[in-house]
Amino acid sequence: MKWGLIGASTIASQHMIGAIRALDGHQIASVLSTSAERGAAYAARHDIPASTTRLEDIVGDPAIGAVYISTTNEKHLPQAMAAIRAGQHVMCEKPLAMSVADAVLMVREARAAGVVLATNHHLRNAGSHLAIRELITSGRIGDILSIRVFHAVMLPENLRGWRIDNAAAGGGVIPDIVVHDADTVRFYLGEDPGEVVAQEASSGLGQGVEDSVMSVWTMPSGVMVQTHESFTHRFAGTGIEVHGREGSIIARNVMTQRPVGDIRICTKDGEQTVPYSGHNLYVRAMERFAGAVRGKGRPSATGTDGVKSLAVAAAVKEAAVTGHRIAVDYGGV
Ligand code: NDP
Repeated sequence: MKWGLIGASTIASQHMIGAIRALDGHQIASVLSTSAERGAAYAARHDIPASTTRLEDIVGDPAIGAVYISTTNEKHLPQAMAAIRAGQHVMCEKPLAMSVADAVLMVREARAAGVVLATNHHLRNAGSHLAIRELITSGRIGDILSIRVFHAVMLPENLRGWRIDNAAAGGGVIPDIVVHDADTVRFYLGEDPGEVVAQEASSGLGQGVEDSVMSVWTMPSGVMVQTHESFTHRFAGTGIEVHGREGSIIARNVMTQRPVGDIRICTKDGEQTVPYSGHNLYVRAMERFAGAVRGKGRPSATGTDGVKSLAVAAAVKEAAVTGHRIAVDYGGV
């Protein structure tokens, strides 16, 4: 299958071009950039045969069967809709869109067109998170009481562009990271957060957008979730803790793009290290996507998963701005 890259982005160059090329029979045909010069340089750097500044060149090319969208967030909706209407399958970056309603439109359009729409939530593809989920669902720590997510990092200097000063492009730590944490918690528990409370802050990097947020979510089952996302914490390290009546899972350095981190399980029998697979997260996501395109299974994170993670992030934002407890609105999906 031939792919079109929509966006000459960092994430494509660091992870997704390699992930697409890791699949047998998958090639990248062209890359779209708003700048002819940057697009040509990007294509040359990554050995991509063509670049263009016209979306029509990609969505109008019948040889291109799928697109990977990794532009800034406000562009995802129009670009995805154009590709879907052209019959192309879409792997779209998170957050799927700027609003839940827009993301729902994408899901409905893809369904009507009979194409695969997936969201690039990489964490649920990690061996670490798959292992934690298996421990939870197999009952190793009993009924779950609470989850604590530590996702306060220092934003790398090369990413300090639109993320820290451009709300119109989808900047801010809430659309950037809360969506991943929402997806991970949903993946673990198989249920969707019901209500949230939150507070946000600008603690050094954000200009007109939040760079830090803390929130508490209640799950329909009664599980309490506490999350902390930030762009300004140099030494905090990431992690996730899942506490059950019969044990706790403590995972450190696992909220990341690479297959790293340590997982420990603590029960009445003591403490053990949990082994997990060290496969590439993005390659697994693309394998699942390619399988779905062939009619085998579903993408690891679907369009609906993208709507739901965005809905939680939108509720966290509203809760932080208003100071109210907010019921998450999933837009009818
Ligand atoms: P980048 O800032 O690297 O790229 C976004 C856009 O910025 C590109 O489409 C490009 O526009 C433009 N751009 C890139 N470099 C330059 C430059 N030197 N000068 C001017 N403009 C430039 O963003 P990311 O790769 O970090 O993020 C892209 C998307 O991917 C976002 O939606 C983000 O949320 C998501 N993401 C997902 C991750 C995941 O693990 N799932 C991780 C990181 C990001 P053009 O295409 O027009 O050239």
